[in-house]
Amino acid sequence: MTVQLDALTWVELDRLTRDGPPVVILPAGSLEQHGPHLPLGTDRFMPARLAALVAERTGALVAPALPYGYKSQPKSGGGNHFPGCASLDAATYIHMVRDILCDLARHGLTKIVLFDGHMENQWFLTEAADLALRALAAEGVVGTRIVKFGYWTFITPETEAALFPDGLLSWELEHAAVMETSCMLHLCPDLVRAEEIPDGPPAAFPPYDVYPVDTGPIPPTGVLSSAAGASAEKGRIVVEQVVPDIAAALVTAFQTDPQG
Ligand SMILES: [Zn+2]
Repeated sequence: MTVQLDALTWVELDRLTRDGPPVVILPAGSLEQHGPHLPLGTDRFMPARLAALVAERTGALVAPALPYGYKSQPKSGGGNHFPGCASLDAATYIHMVRDILCDLARHGLTKIVLFDGHMENQWFLTEAADLALRALAAEGVVGTRIVKFGYWTFITPETEAALFPDGLLSWELEHAAVMETSCMLHLCPDLVRAEEIPDGPPAAFPPYDVYPVDTGPIPPTGVLSSAAGASAEKGRIVVEQVVPDIAAALVTAFQTDPQG
C-alpha cells in the first residue's frame, strides 16, 4: 500500500489507526531560491523524497509536504528578496503547523514527525509543537508525541568527510551548495540544471544581522559557497546513510511512553 497519507481513503486510514497509530511524517519545506541550478522547491522535494524512503522501511505515512516556510534568511538561505521566494510570517506558519498537528492527533494520529527541509523553519516548528500539545491537553487529547529534526543533522562525520574531502566550511553556508546539490542530483536529477552549478567563493558575512537586509555580502547567485564539488555519487552516500539512520531513530523516539 502507498505511504502517502493523501492517497489513502478515510476507511483505509481508520483501519490502520485502529491497530495502533502509524507514525505520520510531515515534511516541512519552503519556496526559496536555490541558486541558478536547483529549483525553488528544493527544500520540499528533499524531505518529501527522504520521508517516503523512511516510510517505506518503517510503515510510516507521509503527510502532504508543506510547500511554504518561514522567510529565507541571508546567512542560511540567501534572503527572501530573490525572485520566487514566497514565505510566511512566523505567526502564520506556527498556527498553520499547529492546526495540522492538532487535527492529526484528534484523529488518533498521535505519533508525528516534523521532518524539516528548511533551516529557517526550525524554531517555529518547535513553537507549533508546543502550542499543539497545549491545545490538545486542554481538550483532553493525550498521548501525542512529536519528533522534530532537520534531516541534515543525521549526517555522520564519515558522510561529511565524503561530501567535503577538504573540510566543511559551515552548514549554514551549504545553502544550495555541495550537500543539497548532490542529494538533488541523486534524488531528482531531472530538476537539476547541471550546467549552471556555480563555483564562487563563500559568502563573507559580518557577525551581526542588519534590517532591512544588507544584500551586499550575499553572492549574486544566491548560493552561499561553491557547489562545484557536488556529485550524484555524494548524494547517494548521503541518502543511503541518513535514511536507515532516521528510520532507526524514529523507532527509538516512539518506543517510550509519551507520558514517561
Ligand atoms: Zn535548501
